[in-house]
This record gives sequence, structure tokens and C-alpha cells, in this order.
Amino acid sequence: MIDFSAYIRTIADYPKAGIQFRDITTLLNDAQAFNAAIDTLALHYADIALDQVVAIEARGFIIGAALASKLGLGFVPVRKVGKLPADTLKQTYALEYGEDTLEVHQDALAAGARVLLVDDLIATGGTALAAISLIRQLGAEVRHAAFVIDLPDLGGVQHLQANGVQPFALCQFE
Ligand code: AMP
Repeated sequence: MIDFSAYIRTIADYPKAGIQFRDITTLLNDAQAFNAAIDTLALHYADIALDQVVAIEARGFIIGAALASKLGLGFVPVRKVGKLPADTLKQTYALEYGEDTLEVHQDALAAGARVLLVDDLIATGGTALAAISLIRQLGAEVRHAAFVIDLPDLGGVQHLQANGVQPFALCQFE
């Protein structure tokens, strides 16, 4: 596998002091790296039975939509509150300071659909677990989650595994 971390830019103290922001726009901007990222994810899931990709706003959409198309699957957006036009299901989750809410259309997933969850990065896993909760509340099944970046020090992978979801990431930043 190519070293995808070499294509990701780190911005110190963004969006606030102490955060090392891992910026995937530099990977997306490189045709070969972007293509290789989607191909590597598609290959990883090629032999796993899946029905739909669910991705998290906003950077998850970029990876998730390209991957869904490559895998021949439908795409479902999970969005920040107030953005989806039809009836939604909401899930609130804790942030470092305060909380946030994700939403999905109530009719977006068939009961029993086998879902691949996609986001750009997993840190604590809180965002992914909120999306997993929405998917399961709609009666669908989620056993796999794909990310470009894993921050292993923050334990998100273990949190997902403890909830029956197997994560896969293209690279890690310590
Ligand atoms: P968490 O819920 O802690 O797993 O955080 C994951 C979500 O926050 C993802 O949607 C990421 O886009 C974003 N995120 C968290 N930490 C970073 C970081 N260091 N660089 C870029 N995005 C981040």
C-alpha cells in the first residue's frame, strides 16, 4: 500500500490551539493519490457483501461518494442538523466541549441493508458511533467503517470494535 500519510498536510493549531489538523485536501488534489486511495478502499471491500455507503458531512462525502460509485453502491448522507429536507432521525453526541447533532433521512436505508460507514478521519470515534447509532435505529446493519486517517492515540478504533464495527484506515498519525 502506498504511504498515504505523505499526501496529507498537517496544520498546527487549527481550528483551535493544540489541534493538529490533518488536511486531506492535498491528497484529493493529487490525481494519482486520490485515485489510489479510492482503489485501495474499494479493493479492501471488494469481497464483503454491502448494500449502501453512509458517509458523514462534510469530508466523508468526498471519499464516501467516490467509493460508493466505485463499489456500485448507493450513497446516503449523514448531515449536521438542519440540512436534510425530508423527515429525519437525529442523534446527539458529546464533543470535547459541548455537543453536536447528526441527522439522516428516515427513509434512506432499507431494514437489513448492509452498510459501509465512511468518514475522512477517526479520532475518539464519537462521530462515527453517532452515525452507527442512526444506521442501527433505521434497522440497517453496520459492521464495517472506512477512513483515510486513524489517530490511534485517541482510541476510536477500539470503541468501534467494542460496538461490533470493524474499522479500516489508509494511514495513521501518532
Ligand atoms: P471523533 O468523533 O473524535 O472520532 O472525530 C472525528 C471527526 O472529527 C471526523 O469527522 C473528522 O473530520 C474530525 N476530526 C477530528 N480530529 C481531527 C483532526 N485532527 N484533523 C482533521 N479532522 C479531525
